[in-house]
Amino acid sequence: MPDCLFCRIAAGEIPATVVSEKSRTLAFRDINPQAPVHVLIIPRDHHPNLAALSAGDSSLLGDLVEHARELAESEGVSEGGYRVVFNTGPNAGQSVDHVHAHLLGGRALGWPPG
Ligand code: 5GP
Ligand code: ZN
Repeated sequence: MPDCLFCRIAAGEIPATVVSEKSRTLAFRDINPQAPVHVLIIPRDHHPNLAALSAGDSSLLGDLVEHARELAESEGVSEGGYRVVFNTGPNAGQSVDHVHAHLLGGRALGWPPG
């Protein structure tokens, strides 16, 4: 997917502040953080959204969620609480069509979301 921003970050063609790398997933800091901890976790392989990933490679979805859990520990938010968000489609405001989990924490997060 040559025109995909997150494929290009995974390939090292576009710089990002990488937090941790695993064999099938990559975590980097969001360029426009919405909380003291705001990390994006992506699969290295291109899947456009959560539905496609879940239907296409549910074990990779498991790896992604496990990576988020590990990051919650290493970022120090596992005790205080955090949120893992997959914006999916226009009504959710998905702006990059390469599935990504947002790990948000470090402050009290409002509910319901906007
Ligand atoms: P979405 O709106 O699709 O759920 O989330 C996309 C996220 O990617 C946004 O929070 C946005 O700030 C982040 N983002 C967009 N472009 C870049 C970039 O070039 N680098 C990084 N690190 N984050 C980006
Ligand atoms: Zn991609």
